[in-house]
Amino acid sequence: VLNGKTAVVTGSNSGIGLGVAREIARAGANVVLNSFTDREEDHALAAEIAKEFGVEARYIQADMSDGEQCRALIEKAGDCDVLVNNAGIQHVAPIDEFPMDKWNAIIAINLNSVFHTTAAALPKMRTAGWGRVINIASAHGLTASPFKSAYVAAKHGVVGMTKTVALETAEEPITCNAICPGYVLTPLVEAQIPDTMEKYNMGREEVIKKVMLERQPSREFATVEQLGGTTVFLASDAAAQITGTTISVDGGWTAL
Ligand code: NAD
Repeated sequence: VLNGKTAVVTGSNSGIGLGVAREIARAGANVVLNSFTDREEDHALAAEIAKEFGVEARYIQADMSDGEQCRALIEKAGDCDVLVNNAGIQHVAPIDEFPMDKWNAIIAINLNSVFHTTAAALPKMRTAGWGRVINIASAHGLTASPFKSAYVAAKHGVVGMTKTVALETAEEPITCNAICPGYVLTPLVEAQIPDTMEKYNMGREEVIKKVMLERQPSREFATVEQLGGTTVFLASDAAAQITGTTISVDGGWTAL
């Protein structure tokens, strides 16, 4: 489906970003992985993807909290036909106690980076005559929860920016959409299960269904492979007239 294309996935040395990069590679595209670290295992992830799927894969270190580095990532990537803005962090606190540095970091990584990478990638997509911008927003881009002011503000911002970019590129063979995941079983979420089991004196399944997936009517996590599949669909020709919108992968969360 994506043979000959190159995809840049921000924040892709773990979780959803890595899952998305793997599914894009499975669909035949070359991929650029990214995070702020520069460890051997980061580069090894790219080598594994290249070997498994027979594509070119590189890891480029860049800190998505820094606008210059966001733009440098796109420059260093060379081609950028598919841009997946996935890097993101979370912090949970009441707004009157929310640490200013956490607010600034969340807005920088979850929102500002999308502005910088998109601004740098669009001229390349125009030159190539084809492009896809796919933003990993969240159910929190469409709804809110208490204690997540920065995250909810940033993700609503991403959904808004998605619509604007779609309008600015509407007459070109470029689309821009956002994917809004509910709860996804990433290593980050998996790591919280043992503690929560202890705290509530519940078994694994009970914690997952009654505590973690309380707002997800399916009572199932979405998987990183499903997020990858949705991304590949949005990058495919079948989705050429889908632009400026959101696709929820949330087990019914936003239907409530
Ligand atoms: P994760 O922590 O596993 O992945 C986050 C990725 O971002 C990692 O690769 C990390 O290295 C990278 N990252 C963090 N700070 C960075 C920085 N300064 N520069 C570059 N990269 C940086 O979490 P995840 O669950 O895979 O989350 C990925 C995206 O999906 C985020 O935008 C998150 O908001 C969104 N999301 C996740 C869930 C969920 O339930 N897991 C639900 C909705 C949305």
